[in-house]
Amino acid sequence: MTKDKRELARRQDKAPIATAWDYAPAPEARDIVKIQERYGLFIGGKFVEPASGERYTTIDPAREEPLAEVAQAGKADVDRAVRAARDAFANGWSALRPSERAKYLFRIARLLQERSREFAVLESINGGKPIRESRDVDVPLAAAHFFYYAGWADKLEYAFPNRKPRPVGVAGQIIPWNFPLLMLAWKIAPALAAGNTVVLKPAETTPLSALLFCDVLRQAELPPGVVNIVTGDGRAGAELVSHPDVNKIAFTGSTEVGKAIQKTLAGTGKRLTLELGGKAANIIFDDAPLDQAVEGIVNGIYFNQGHVCCAGSRLLVEESIYETVIAKLKRRMATLRVGDPLDKNTDVGAINSKQQLDKISALVQSGVDEGAEIYQPPCKLPERGYWFVPTVFTNVAQSYRIAQEEIFGPVLSVLTFRTPDEAIEKANNTPYGLSAGVWTEKGSRILAMAQRLRAGVVWANTYNRFDPAAPFGGYKESGFGREGGRHGLEPYVVLDDA
Ligand code: NAP
Ligand code: MG
Repeated sequence: MTKDKRELARRQDKAPIATAWDYAPAPEARDIVKIQERYGLFIGGKFVEPASGERYTTIDPAREEPLAEVAQAGKADVDRAVRAARDAFANGWSALRPSERAKYLFRIARLLQERSREFAVLESINGGKPIRESRDVDVPLAAAHFFYYAGWADKLEYAFPNRKPRPVGVAGQIIPWNFPLLMLAWKIAPALAAGNTVVLKPAETTPLSALLFCDVLRQAELPPGVVNIVTGDGRAGAELVSHPDVNKIAFTGSTEVGKAIQKTLAGTGKRLTLELGGKAANIIFDDAPLDQAVEGIVNGIYFNQGHVCCAGSRLLVEESIYETVIAKLKRRMATLRVGDPLDKNTDVGAINSKQQLDKISALVQSGVDEGAEIYQPPCKLPERGYWFVPTVFTNVAQSYRIAQEEIFGPVLSVLTFRTPDEAIEKANNTPYGLSAGVWTEKGSRILAMAQRLRAGVVWANTYNRFDPAAPFGGYKESGFGREGGRHGLEPYVVLDDA
């Protein structure tokens, strides 16, 4: 840095914290989406009434307004869906020419692109995430996943050389509420590409994009029963897990439920992949490009309100640059816009549910009680809906709950280190092992760190970057099995000797 630049940086870091600029509201129109008053279960290619007779109301978390009545699948409903999937598997889908299977996946991908605005708006209304993210991340990545696995459908023998891959059978898939459509794509695309059929349960709070996806399946003329969607709370998920005719369970969600599923499946011979929680370290070395690193920190923890399993929720900063990084971070945080998810200027949307808001609030209170220093930028929150101001904790000890537990909200805990060894030690000191970030100018240091970090994904000089070709998954209590890439096909094939 030249002397002038250094002086400029010093002055900038001392400048008073400015708040976000005033912009005129720029709301995306809601009327592109037609939300029905009530939905049935999607079984055997059509919507059917739930035998359980039970329904619940799904809401818009930014307005606390009801959106639709959704079916709560019971035991008989899940059984019906599994039977539909079994019939579709036996009666054609598993024996279909792979290039024909690929055509369906390509069609689904293109339809998602064509209807992307509709999906983006619905995802933001039902989940609370900013339209900027659902429009630019969730929906395009969901389409990309179908395109990617469409390409593999007729090349499975190349994915597993010298083996004869065949489908596993009926896959039961259970997904969370943080990326409803994207998690659906991560689950369904590889399963279908490999010739399996599916029963998928969306999260209780965010069923609507999965229900709209059923209309895409109709347009794509997917044979009935190949994909079945059963909505409902955890009870429906538990029925799916324990159904005797399901061959494989794929689960994304909390470590607690993941452990329960593993217990249920022990000894049954059913296959299982688990993608669970995380408490990732985002590590900033003193030679990192600091302004980019601050963007990476913000993207790492405030993206999707921090409802991200691989969120960079523990910031590890080299001690020599601590003051500078924290000053820059606080200034940047003050420019984040929290509010209406459908406004194109919004950076941080609504918290997904009252239950999640309570969980975040309790953990933040524990941080204050244990003695950490809290900073929240000045920020006006809407009166209705579930909101949480982007928060950073400094003076955090490793033993504090906010440094140990997954908060799943817009809350960052900052720790410091002096040497790479100390950074590794602290980063790995968690029961989780899903992801990590490293910021440094030295390529050799990136590689050395990546090798020693016990994390399934390590990002270098970037964060939260996804690609369907890249495998994603955890170590330790973050789960096992990989989704994405060639690795993501493996749980969906039986490999016979060629
Ligand atoms: P969760 O309960 O594990 O939810 C994940 C999915 O599993 C949902 O579809 C859920 O239905 C279903 N489920 C619940 N109990 C089940 C059971 N006994 N058997 C089978 N399926 C079951 O997670 P959550 O309650 O939504 O969130 C709790 C915490 O989990 C969060 O605060 C966060 O820390 C963590 N989480 C992690 C991820 C991740 O991507 N790794 C995602 C979401 C949440 P319901 O929607 O009805 O619960
Ligand atoms: Mg739950």
